[in-house]
Amino acid sequence: MHNAAIINESIHADAAAFGIGPAPTGVESAPTGIETKHAWESMRENVQNHIRSLNFKYRVNLREKGVSYLNKLGKFKDAHTLEVTDKKGRVSEITASRFIIAVGGRPTPLECEGGELAISSDDIFALENSPGKTLCVGASYISLECAGFLAGIGHDVTVAVRSILLRGFDREVADKIGSYMEDHGIKFRKEVVPSKLEKVEGDKIKVTFSNGETDIYDTVLVAIGRQADTQKLGLENIGVETNSRNFKIPTKFEQTSVPNVYAIGDVMEGCPELTPVAIQAGIQLSRRLFGGSKEPMDYKNICTTVFTPIEYGCCGYSEDEAIEKFGADNVEVYHKSFMPLEWSLSDSRSVHQAFTKVIVDKSDNERVLGIHFVGPNAGEVLQGYGTAMKKGITFQDLADTVGIHPTSAEEIVTLTVTKSSGEDAAAGGC
Ligand SMILES: Cc1cc2nc3c(=O)[nH]c(=O)nc-3n(C[C@H](O)[C@H](O)[C@H](O)COP(=O)(O)OP(=O)(O)OC[C@H]3O[C@@H](n4cnc5c(N)ncnc54)[C@H](O)[C@@H]3O)c2cc1C
Repeated sequence: MHNAAIINESIHADAAAFGIGPAPTGVESAPTGIETKHAWESMRENVQNHIRSLNFKYRVNLREKGVSYLNKLGKFKDAHTLEVTDKKGRVSEITASRFIIAVGGRPTPLECEGGELAISSDDIFALENSPGKTLCVGASYISLECAGFLAGIGHDVTVAVRSILLRGFDREVADKIGSYMEDHGIKFRKEVVPSKLEKVEGDKIKVTFSNGETDIYDTVLVAIGRQADTQKLGLENIGVETNSRNFKIPTKFEQTSVPNVYAIGDVMEGCPELTPVAIQAGIQLSRRLFGGSKEPMDYKNICTTVFTPIEYGCCGYSEDEAIEKFGADNVEVYHKSFMPLEWSLSDSRSVHQAFTKVIVDKSDNERVLGIHFVGPNAGEVLQGYGTAMKKGITFQDLADTVGIHPTSAEEIVTLTVTKSSGEDAAAGGC
């Protein structure tokens, strides 16, 4: 769905500048027209079919590896017995010497009058009909990504922000993403939360905000956090401790307070909520349990990307975190704003620039503490830097790396302007 927004954006912002336009009437082989209409139903069906095919492949893979897949809901009876219930309500038991809990999380519901009228980020991808005018509640990456793709495919979108955008990410970059989204037509209602939702005529939802203002939407999507799905797991029956606030499970090397029970992924306290992190933690744990490995899972320097739909990829510390941890005197930032080549022909792109910054520890040979990149294909750009950061690279290592021209990624290895110099990030290089 992010890709749908990117494609639509490209058609509207870039295509004409590259000479791509509506075909003259009667010319069959010319490019398709620029006038576009987004068919939610087709996208949804294609996406759902793709997911179904992935699920099928996973099941085949499991079968080929000799893993039994049971589509049943589990609940602990004791530390070695799981009671499982199938869709028809039939209950049976499984015993095992060890268990790994990987039940993930569920979206936190909106606790206000009429909150049940809102949908969650779990629902949006399967929504049968186009969501129309939408309010996204929350400013986490999930809310902003949903807002971004909905606006990108042509919907009227507002985001209700209680405090700040993208908590936990680099502040400077989060602000850039906010202004990019605003310039792409997304409205922000700042420092408000919904206080009441009510159905009004035509199946619309009237939202009253905490500041007394109201508006009417076709869809209200809530993404105000996720809680670990551990409450009905029967953990109290076996003594596995959970955090009373988010119901996550504290672990030591993925082992819970009950020695034969492990936890990985979103359910584990302190685990970055990302798919590849859950997968890698599972692989490492299996190797330690059954393969003689002693390697713990390394939760540091994990790359991630936010798709709003402008992409923001990062790895390591944000500038604020680095200053807090290493002290302002020890932290230097190399930064640059730049125009990606693929944006450079179209006037409508000129209001925004891509951006990158590398945060280094001056007291440790300019070791790289964080890399941040906002621009096209940021996820693709950042992945390799994740490996580099695992190896503890310095800024000089980056500077010694020959870039790939003419890409946006080469900006990371050609940085020269420091923040402390006071020079504008738009300076530096030609
Ligand atoms: C909208 C959205 C966008 C995201 N985008 C990204 C992204 O771009 N990149 C990224 O890396 N991550 C992304 N994430 C995060 C990612 O989805 C999670 O980090 C990841 O799925 C966690 O994996 P997990 O195995 O811990 O849990 P899950 O994937 O949540 O799997 C848990 C499974 O356990 C099942 N289950 C629950 N309770 C029981 C029970 N009692 N018995 C049996 N089964 C049970 C659930 O049905 C579910 O199938 C996104 C999340 C959301 C919500």
